[in-house]
Amino acid sequence: MSTATLSIDLDAIAANWRALDRLSGAHTQTAAVVKADAYGLGAGRVARALATAGARRFFVACAEEGAILRQALGNGPQISVFSGHMAGDTDMISDLGLTPMLNSIEQITRHLEALPGHSFGIQLDTGMNRLGMEASEWEAVAAFVLDAGPEILISHLACSDEPEHEMNAFQLAEFHAMTDGIDVPRSLAATGGIFLGPEYHFDLTRPGIGLYGGLPFEEALPVVALSLPVIQLRELTIGETVGYGCTWVAEGPCQIATVAGGYADGLLRALGNRAVLWAGDVPCPVVGRVSMDMITVDVSHLEQAPRTLDILGPQQSVDDLAEAGDTIGYEILTGLGARYTRRYIQGASG
Ligand SMILES: *Cc1c(COP(=O)(O)O)cnc(C)c1O
Repeated sequence: MSTATLSIDLDAIAANWRALDRLSGAHTQTAAVVKADAYGLGAGRVARALATAGARRFFVACAEEGAILRQALGNGPQISVFSGHMAGDTDMISDLGLTPMLNSIEQITRHLEALPGHSFGIQLDTGMNRLGMEASEWEAVAAFVLDAGPEILISHLACSDEPEHEMNAFQLAEFHAMTDGIDVPRSLAATGGIFLGPEYHFDLTRPGIGLYGGLPFEEALPVVALSLPVIQLRELTIGETVGYGCTWVAEGPCQIATVAGGYADGLLRALGNRAVLWAGDVPCPVVGRVSMDMITVDVSHLEQAPRTLDILGPQQSVDDLAEAGDTIGYEILTGLGARYTRRYIQGASG
């Protein structure tokens, strides 16, 4: 079989949620962000495991993701939609009981006219300039909106992975200025915000990446492992080259393994001549460019011919691989391809 195996540890995801829930504090509820198919890991399986662990509120990016999640979770948990109430979403929001985070006066009008009495939240922009209402808009409509009974007021931090960044305190102050004195639950912190301290936690935290083992949750349990089968081994002599563009030249006799998995599977082309794969605890350098479906690896130093090589696992986290590819763990996770055999680990810990 030449399909790579992606292992996803649902027990580790549940443990990471519990840890973030403890860190959020006893008076703060902890949601789970499962947008983008739970950061590439499978929203249905992941959300069911999180619901079993105790998560009651879930966030997705768009109503379509909310529809898929509702099917997986059934009717209990609350499913909130960051992009709010877009034209064409009304039936999905209504039929599937989704809670849109309304981002503009246009969305507020649409929602209250189409679905009066249906649950909603409000997203406020405190400086990121991406989604949500700015202070002046909010001031103009707050009294009217509060009358309609929003579930929650949320905002999002631009720099929470940099605790020293002055933007954090600035956005915190803005959020207070826009919401103090209003008797509606509030939410500001994603994973990074949880680590900024209790003053950032408010009533609800919204971790995503930390659930999946990524920074800035340094103590997170690893969640994913990715093992690539060796398709072929070959011996090279001095001066022979490997791969497209002949970018790697053998400096002596060596053995090269060709493994299944390439940039079409989310293993970025930027990893060529830079990343390492692992045979157990022995690192093996990627040589030459990453192809669409294959990666070439120098395994000359191994005592035994490898049958598989690991690109994610105990020796190499998502963030390690991201560093080799000049990106962030989020992009590695959400880019994991559709061709892997996915193996979910659950119940191992009883
Ligand atoms: C993606 C997202 C989150 C989760 O962020 P992480 O950094 O993955 O924890 C929370 N809130 C909003 C508005 C988001 O877009």
